[in-house]
Amino acid sequence: MTDTERIRALRETILRHDRLYYVEARPEISDYDYDRLWSELERLEAAHPELITPDSPTQRVSGAPISGFEKVRHDPPMRSLDKTYERGELAQFDAFLHEKMPDAVWDYTVEPKVDGLSLSLLYRDGLLLRAATRGNGEVGDDITANVKTIRSIPLRIPTDAALVEVRGEIYMTREGFAALNRREEEAGREPFANPRNAAAGSVKLLDPREVAQRPLDAVLYGVGALSGVTFATHSAMLRTLAEWGFKTPPWQRLCMDIEQVFHAIDELGARRHTFPFEIDGAVIKVNQRTLYPRLGSTAHAPRFARAYKYAPEVAETRLNDITVQVGRTGVLTPVAELEPVHLAGSVISRATLHNADMVQTKDIRIGDWVQLSKHGDVIPAVDAVVPGKRPPEAVPYRFPDHCPVCGSEVSKLEGEVAIRCINPDCPAQRVGRLELFVSRNALDIAAIGSRMAEALVQAGLVTRPLDLFAINTETLSTFKLISEDGSERRFGKKANDVAQALANAATLPLHRWLTAFGIPGIGETAARTLSALFPSLSAMQDTALLEEILAFYAAIERKLSPEDDRDLFMGEIVARAEALKPHGLILRDDPERSIRDRYLLTVKPEMARALFHFLKAPYATDLFARLAALGIDPKPEIKQASGNALAGLSFVITGTLSHAREHFEALIRDHGGTVQGAVSKKTSYLLIGENPGGSKYNKAQALNTPMLPEAAFMALLSPTPQAPEMPPPEASKEAAGKPLQAPSHPDAYVQDDFFGSLK
Ligand code: AMP
Ligand code: ZN
Repeated sequence: MTDTERIRALRETILRHDRLYYVEARPEISDYDYDRLWSELERLEAAHPELITPDSPTQRVSGAPISGFEKVRHDPPMRSLDKTYERGELAQFDAFLHEKMPDAVWDYTVEPKVDGLSLSLLYRDGLLLRAATRGNGEVGDDITANVKTIRSIPLRIPTDAALVEVRGEIYMTREGFAALNRREEEAGREPFANPRNAAAGSVKLLDPREVAQRPLDAVLYGVGALSGVTFATHSAMLRTLAEWGFKTPPWQRLCMDIEQVFHAIDELGARRHTFPFEIDGAVIKVNQRTLYPRLGSTAHAPRFARAYKYAPEVAETRLNDITVQVGRTGVLTPVAELEPVHLAGSVISRATLHNADMVQTKDIRIGDWVQLSKHGDVIPAVDAVVPGKRPPEAVPYRFPDHCPVCGSEVSKLEGEVAIRCINPDCPAQRVGRLELFVSRNALDIAAIGSRMAEALVQAGLVTRPLDLFAINTETLSTFKLISEDGSERRFGKKANDVAQALANAATLPLHRWLTAFGIPGIGETAARTLSALFPSLSAMQDTALLEEILAFYAAIERKLSPEDDRDLFMGEIVARAEALKPHGLILRDDPERSIRDRYLLTVKPEMARALFHFLKAPYATDLFARLAALGIDPKPEIKQASGNALAGLSFVITGTLSHAREHFEALIRDHGGTVQGAVSKKTSYLLIGENPGGSKYNKAQALNTPMLPEAAFMALLSPTPQAPEMPPPEASKEAAGKPLQAPSHPDAYVQDDFFGSLK
């Protein structure tokens, strides 16, 4: 098989699996096997850039950041829908149609009205040419690069039609929305008001790589411009869209008459919260598209359809009080204490007010009547004050300028909306830190729940999480907890579980401990990446490497700043990168790319900065001393077993190997070697698989670079025969808690946040 054929075959296969996974939600292969296909394709394309086509799955995140969006004209315009909240008006709609077309026969379709933002997709000769927002209906924004990152949208559709414009809605899944908002709030940024705003904000990001991180999806339910294809009915069109690989409305009804339509909208109303997207109504359409020309449209909307909106799920109630909660990182969150009220199937007595800014902008006062809404399974939120119901004595709410828990000063960091208690001894923060410390991704001490955490802090037994180690099991088992109903119970046997978990803690890998420390901005993923930089926890006290990383990023920033001479700092950047290479944290060095993209490091600047600041604080000094006293010095997960067999060697990889390329990159780094993107005089070996890329192969031949087949490469890693006391490689790797061969997943080595950015 030639490379051209292999590339084509890979694309077809990936396309099929994309569809199975993203559209039909029934994957047939493991992530691991999928990643292998993907990296093989990437590799072949890198070797043959001339064979890259715009519909290749690798091109989903290929656009460079832009400074603005081009305008596109919609022909035909993207109209809105006439809406109603009344069934009577739907009956009038039906009567109007009968009056207008006395001779015709038709039925209706009913489908959900997706609450996202309208999208137009233009396919020429089956190839996705352009994606656009609705804008004002006549003119919208070209968001092609961003929309390509949505994996359920086919880049090519199997049709002979010269032109097909497919229309629908982009949305953010409810789950994705909740997770995104949690991340935004934790980062001190303003959360999005609802999934639709979040989706709209996401498609308007200027960098497709960021868009690719957002949980966006799309449902397609219509067509615009068509040439070379027609559809007799709406339902037939939806079927064809589905055949072409689009996600179409997951719920549809075909109704013989308006009575059946009423029935369908009741049915849909009852399950409106069961969809992955928000719906704000039902759309009723005449099924026979052949009748559309007879009906025409108004300036605003087509005459063949109506939207029926469900009464919004909002509630009004009295705001009895505003309390302020303090989280682990000291962030103060205002909470509305409400007169209990029914909303979307549950009784609500508390709702988040997000942050001080929001309370102030909306001028929410204690005693006000407020409007609440609940977006699916998202936490209820106060949307607005009900006008005209404010009691005369209500005064503007003053956000506390001291922490409600510890009374110390609060402060607002630049660029953040969050107000924080800056006292590290704040009991609320202590509880939060303890909760994190015992959480599953950290030390996993399940016996300590949030009530116990609070009690331990309150009793003065724990001021810092490490105090847990000083409490003896006897004390702990007799410790009394007060439950909600006021009754007392003893901690009892659970004390043994705690003791056991603590005894085991010293053997946990470094990243679990780093997570447990709760360093702002360092979650589990960052902890894994950072832990790979150090041989042990105690070694972190030497921050030289972190400083080098920060200096490297600072050099890039300086170079990118417009005031400076473009070439002035290039030499410094390259020199700094070279110095970092032996540490295995450079994943990509591709001189062909722009300076912003040339290097890809495992460690992002924010991570390095966060860890650096943490390590420089007095808190850390004390922490290290205490851990040393406890004899705890965690080690990173993989490095230990690997050794430095490849120290000082640099590799370029080409061709198909037995595992995904990332697997071998990780192996090389874990053994102290470095990975390069292109063969140069400095390359020690070309690791060569099947179907090697032409340019790398030729260059290596020209430069006389030694070429290593996979088996020879693996032999480089193995212990030498002169060391018989060493266990065989597999056993030593197992001993580190992680097999290095299959069935492991490449993500075990490559952290998903930069892995994602590579895709
Ligand atoms: P509105 O945005 O409230 O004016 O409602 C009109 C919009 O509803 C259309 O422009 C579409 O973007 C959107 N919409 C959502 N679901 C559907 C659907 N199933 N059929 C037609 N339009 C829909
Ligand atoms: Zn405080």
